[in-house]
Amino acid sequence: MLTTHLDWNQSEIKEKLDRYFFNEVPLAPQRQYAQIVLLREFESTAVLTTEGQFLDVELVRGGQTITDTLSRVLFQKRKQVAPERRTGRAFNRSFGINEKCQYMRKMCGECPDCLLYGFAATEGEGSQRSRILTDSGFSIRPYEVIQRSITLNAIDDTTTGGVSGSAFAEREHIRPQVYFPTIETAVDVTSSEFLYILRNILTTTRYGAESQRQGYIRNIPVAILFGQSEILSNLSLVQHLYDKLYCDQNRGIETSLDRDELIELIKQVLTDAQSQSYLPVQIMMNEELEQILSSIREIWKSKEANDSWLQQLQKEHQTYKKKVKPKKEKKEEK
Ligand SMILES: [Zn+2]
Repeated sequence: MLTTHLDWNQSEIKEKLDRYFFNEVPLAPQRQYAQIVLLREFESTAVLTTEGQFLDVELVRGGQTITDTLSRVLFQKRKQVAPERRTGRAFNRSFGINEKCQYMRKMCGECPDCLLYGFAATEGEGSQRSRILTDSGFSIRPYEVIQRSITLNAIDDTTTGGVSGSAFAEREHIRPQVYFPTIETAVDVTSSEFLYILRNILTTTRYGAESQRQGYIRNIPVAILFGQSEILSNLSLVQHLYDKLYCDQNRGIETSLDRDELIELIKQVLTDAQSQSYLPVQIMMNEELEQILSSIREIWKSKEANDSWLQQLQKEHQTYKKKVKPKKEKKEEK
């Protein structure tokens, strides 16, 4: 572990992360990407339907080499990011950062959520493009083997006998221990901002509909890629993974997958993608990533370190807001 200082600004981890991130929020796009590669593992059943009873599926090619098409379950981008934003917004509230900010109604334009995930102009208050890029995720194995229909018998106590024949509904669920490898990309962020995004991802556990009762997901960070381009999409990641699982080895599609094996295979896919990339890409994984993560744990667990990180984040955002304002006024003069 890197030695952590109670002051975020003095910590070794910030110093290390600063090599990859900006010191202050850039005013114009610089296209510095940090792709967070995650293996999302369902630890309970989950409902990923947009509406109604069926899971969202998409017919796509199995692999990049294996050309057979298959129906993959979609983990819609909104369904990934909305719960993570809510985690961040609750966290902000606990520190009194964004009490005025109303999600999707009257966004304040000043809190970390607005400035990172973006907000649209309300009453001429400017706007911010999202600096977090996401995309829908795809299941590795086909829809048929990872879903289960669950019939809900609704008890209608007005019916004699307690059970009403008509009051039941069937809904498709994702089975537990199903994996969605997905990438969330941060663009043009500072290391303090990156920590905020990471906190939202690593501490969100509930996704999908009926998340009070199911939809538990463990987000396992596998690697972080740094560079001036995005080298991999969710779909190509899952397809390369599928090739490695079902071309190189002779296994049945019905057999459940092993977490540790998947993590190793994802790392291989990333290394391959790195060698195919036109621009330089740095991969942070294995021990290096572990070291970063354990230092981050120490920061979040220490009140003092946590406070100093948040203060720095707020300072960066205030500076940024001051700098973007004059620009806007000039525009209005024209
Ligand atoms: Zn806000």
